[in-house]
Amino acid sequence: MNTDVVVVGGGPVGLMLAAELRLGGARVVLLERLTEPSGHSRAFRMQARMLDVLDQRGLLGHFMEGNRTWPKAHFAGLEPLLDFGYLRNEHPYALLIPQARTEELLEKHALSCGVEIRRGHTVTGIEATPATVVCDVSTREGTYRIGSSYLVGCDGGRSTVRKLAGIGFSGSQPTVRALLADVELADPGQLPNGVPGTMRTPRGLLMAISLQPGVTRVLTTEFAAPEPGAERTPVTLDELSATVRRITGIDVGMDRPRWLSRFTDTTRLADTYRQGRVLLAGDAAHVHFPIGAQGLNLGLQDAVNLGWKLAGTLVGWAPPGLLDSYGTERRPVAERVLRETRVQLMIMAPDPKVDPLREMFSELLELPEVNSRLAHEMTGLDVRYALPPGRYEHDLLGRPCPPLEQAVGDEVRRGLRTGRGVLLLPDGLVEEAAALAADWSHRLCTVRTGDGPGLLLRPDGHVAWADPGDGVPRKDVLLELEDTLRQWFGASGHKIARRALDVTSG
Ligand SMILES: Cc1cc2nc3c(=O)[nH]c(=O)nc-3n(C[C@H](O)[C@H](O)[C@H](O)COP(=O)(O)OP(=O)(O)OC[C@H]3O[C@@H](n4cnc5c(N)ncnc54)[C@H](O)[C@@H]3O)c2cc1C
Repeated sequence: MNTDVVVVGGGPVGLMLAAELRLGGARVVLLERLTEPSGHSRAFRMQARMLDVLDQRGLLGHFMEGNRTWPKAHFAGLEPLLDFGYLRNEHPYALLIPQARTEELLEKHALSCGVEIRRGHTVTGIEATPATVVCDVSTREGTYRIGSSYLVGCDGGRSTVRKLAGIGFSGSQPTVRALLADVELADPGQLPNGVPGTMRTPRGLLMAISLQPGVTRVLTTEFAAPEPGAERTPVTLDELSATVRRITGIDVGMDRPRWLSRFTDTTRLADTYRQGRVLLAGDAAHVHFPIGAQGLNLGLQDAVNLGWKLAGTLVGWAPPGLLDSYGTERRPVAERVLRETRVQLMIMAPDPKVDPLREMFSELLELPEVNSRLAHEMTGLDVRYALPPGRYEHDLLGRPCPPLEQAVGDEVRRGLRTGRGVLLLPDGLVEEAAALAADWSHRLCTVRTGDGPGLLLRPDGHVAWADPGDGVPRKDVLLELEDTLRQWFGASGHKIARRALDVTSG
């Protein structure tokens, strides 16, 4: 065996996953087809839930540096906008950051955690046995084989790994054709709705966003299925100009393209996220129309859910079923995003029949409950994993950790940064619960919260146990905590040498 895990694909999801695996103590080799990063950015927005996660890993400062935030988002291009003032989290805004910068920062992080990144290495074949996965790799210098205990395909929507593993990708065919162009506009004033601005006409949609001084991103969407094979045809400036003219009726002067690309609303979900020793994450597991800035965020959270579980499986402490909970938890989250992006695209269709629906939806968006609910959904903050039933219900179970008082929050972040879980103990529980948790101390940090909440956070920051407070006998509370510790952190006293680097601890 050459390594514990081979991660295929060095996009944002592969890089994040590789770093998470290292935090958990697994050895990782990441194989990326491109010799150099493309430098192009599809995504430009990091959502609130992911900002919390980056903060929990001590990375947020680097991501914020030099980039703007925006406390709003649109839903299906409607007014009023979604108001992130409703968000129940510590970063109630979106961070506007180009995907190329996100990848640069994640690559740096992965390298600092000790990930071995091999660029210019394309995976062409995989052979999985009950005990190992061997993959064929092609490079400019020749081919070689690498063996690992597990392999994760983070190789994008057209995933070679998914196809080689024979995992189905069920969903719908494209119904729209869309172009992305980073260009110089001769006169931004030619666009009636300006830059930034959106136009919905009977023939399609046009969106224009300023990328940097002098460079505008123009996005067009026409509601007709693409010609067969169109995905392999390069976009030209002439095609872009003709499309903009068809949609808007205007000849918009555009020149010096930095990047021209096409995409569709193909919406698909992997039939399973795990087949034996092969797993999928990110676009390899789910694709949808890029509305609402969600694909990258969804994929990064796959990585944060999977990393500690797979590392725990490899290091040896993982309880039965931990690795399978990755797919059980993350697949339904993707299902919801796929549904919501389909809804948004339907509402944006140019067909006048949709207009009454738009009017009604706009009225609904005025209602704080609706606005808040959609804001939580689009930012990933509404995610609630269905945890195995315990002795009592609690509204926080399965949800991301709620905002905490500053000093406690700092302690919690210090704990999560090491890739371990965190047990928050209020005064009333400190002695007994801390003694109980001591057996898991190598996988868990303990933080005193005074009169704050009692919570057990998994390494991905989700709540696994919550103190129900008065009304439940103390004995039951402690029994429930002990069961939960076993469920997510393995057998007590099972001290396994921590192979992880301690680069991130402290
Ligand atoms: C126009 C547009 C705008 C978007 N805006 C947003 C946004 O604002 N916010 C958001 O969250 N999402 C957005 N998205 C979606 C986002 O870009 C993707 O979800 C994200 O890139 C997925 O990351 P990934 O790492 O899973 O896959 P990718 O970014 O596709 O990376 C896959 C990597 O695998 C490599 N690879 C492929 N095959 C092999 C192989 N056989 N061997 C080795 N390496 C291989 C590729 O070279 C690539 O580097 C947008 C998408 C589009 C099209």
